[in-house]
Amino acid sequence: MRDVIVIGAGGGGPVVAKELVAKGLDVLLLEAGPRHANPRQEWTTFENDANNPLTGYFRLGRTDRSKPAWFREWSQNSFVWQLSGVGGTTQHFYGNYPRAYPGVFRGYDGADRGEYDVDHRFPFSYSELVPYFEWVEATAPVQTAAMGTKEQVFFRGCETLGLPVQTTKTTRGPSYRPQENAILQPGGNAGKTTDKDLLVHPAATGCTFCGYCFQGCMRPIGAPRNQFAKRSTDNSYVPMALTAEVWAPDGRPVELITDAYVTEVHTESRDGALTATGVTWRDNVSGDSHREDATVVVMAGGCTENPRLWLNSGLPNPNDWVGRGYTDHFFDWMIGSFDDDTGTPKGVGSSARLDFPPYGGLENVGLPPALNAFATTLSDSGIRGQYTNGRGMTGPWDGPAGRLMGPELKELVAGGLDRLLSVLVITDDDVEPDNRVTLSALPADENGPIPKVSFQHRERTARTTRNREFMARKAAELLRGAGAKKVYRIDWAPLILHVQSSMRMGESEATSVLDSNAEARGVRRLFIADNSALANGLGGPNPTLTSQALATRTAEKIFQRYFGGDPWVRSEAPVVSTDPRVSVRLAQLGL
Ligand SMILES: Cc1cc2nc3c(=O)[nH]c(=O)nc-3n(C[C@H](O)[C@H](O)[C@H](O)COP(=O)(O)OP(=O)(O)OC[C@H]3O[C@@H](n4cnc5c(N)ncnc54)[C@H](O)[C@@H]3O)c2cc1C
Repeated sequence: MRDVIVIGAGGGGPVVAKELVAKGLDVLLLEAGPRHANPRQEWTTFENDANNPLTGYFRLGRTDRSKPAWFREWSQNSFVWQLSGVGGTTQHFYGNYPRAYPGVFRGYDGADRGEYDVDHRFPFSYSELVPYFEWVEATAPVQTAAMGTKEQVFFRGCETLGLPVQTTKTTRGPSYRPQENAILQPGGNAGKTTDKDLLVHPAATGCTFCGYCFQGCMRPIGAPRNQFAKRSTDNSYVPMALTAEVWAPDGRPVELITDAYVTEVHTESRDGALTATGVTWRDNVSGDSHREDATVVVMAGGCTENPRLWLNSGLPNPNDWVGRGYTDHFFDWMIGSFDDDTGTPKGVGSSARLDFPPYGGLENVGLPPALNAFATTLSDSGIRGQYTNGRGMTGPWDGPAGRLMGPELKELVAGGLDRLLSVLVITDDDVEPDNRVTLSALPADENGPIPKVSFQHRERTARTTRNREFMARKAAELLRGAGAKKVYRIDWAPLILHVQSSMRMGESEATSVLDSNAEARGVRRLFIADNSALANGLGGPNPTLTSQALATRTAEKIFQRYFGGDPWVRSEAPVVSTDPRVSVRLAQLGL
């Protein structure tokens, strides 16, 4: 009998695991995918080897890449970009760590308070979450991003929009700024040379500007795992959870089992209340099933797999909100072409942002070549000049929205990536019940019926559509202001990489799955601690910091409610995940 079982070692699960092992609890962390214990042997900088969603080392699937990836059904033009493995989807992420906008929380009284998704606010105030933001920001740690040429070009455009520079972590209004990100700042030789012999730890620390954030961060060469630059959870929270006995006075290490797919959450009736008692997990390698019991179960399998596991376990769904309200920031992609060098493929993927509450935000994004080609083709508006699917919006960009072909495409790429600047349009989208996860009617896989992701993307709410159009215009103005010769709008189909709120907490029992402690309304001792617990799309900011702040708060609630513990976030100083005691212990463990 365990104290706590955590399902999923992605963005959220390891946070709960790390916080609770530090308090001496016996925590089992079950991860469906692989553990890349030796990235320098297992990873490459070849895009297809890393990112191919069927066969790449970053995919949704088991360790054995000769076996097929796990299938999900999505019947509309879209792409669901989630990974399995220790680190989950944070293995791909860019580490941008803005806080949610205050306007999405209960009690917000700003002049624009009616402009947000007011029916789906967080059931507590922004100030309630601030100590947890600060805790994660100190732990990860979150720092001001290292910048380069592409950020200079982006800021040149921002300056023409008449907005102020933001200087606080709380976004109070339209403004622009360097990202606050979970990537260690360059130190020593890092950022000063491209000579790889000089970019070796400890002569180089933090980000070496290699430009391969996407393929998994394994630099600086020679650094201990907990000091790799990008703070995906495989480099930050998981090493801490594995070594808690060395850095926490009462700590004990987490037990981490990978290739362990949880197929059922067990419950029983206790004192008239349905209560979680444990899980069954399946070993991907042997096919054997194992049962484990626990005082508390925490689901952190992500926005698509949590609803699937819930429904496959036959857990109650009385208001039919399990899987509903899947928000995705209804992204769009704008490209500017320039005469001068934009530095797009170099350095940290995205180090500059513009926030425009309550509409959303913009960030510059540098991608490696194959992903850049993918990003310019995922259009809902067809091929420019050929057909528009009834969309092909016009505005301050060149011609109708859509993907490019022929001479226009050749002209765009002729100067190479160094002549382009791409801007991600991030929309504050509404929680919409019809954007959802259900069980697919397609054949089940070895872990049970598979999930189906449905998007009513052509019929978004009027507010979501307005927000996206507003931000796309701002992106075009920014690119023109920065000096772009041509500006193209792709009109992306739903690209599910910021995904939130499919098992949302909320003020109303009628439209939420979780209460304000992130405990399931219908199942005691069952908590959710990842993006799916978020109440809404946060106003547009990238979700992981808010998810991890909430997961920290949830860990504290679990400790207080079921283990008689005291809260700690306001009374203790966080230990940073780069703690040298962690490196030493990892080396002893051969990790
Ligand atoms: C290209 C890209 C860039 C991004 N950049 C940013 C960024 O800059 N900033 C930001 O904030 N966010 C970013 N994100 C989003 C970020 O990755 C997510 O917010 C974060 O990973 C979500 O964490 P999660 O725990 O909800 O889900 P995940 O990270 O997807 O983790 C879920 C884990 O649970 C496991 N799992 C699922 N079901 C089971 C089961 N039944 N049994 C056992 N294990 C299970 C999965 O294998 C997975 O490892 C980016 C995403 C992508 C794809």
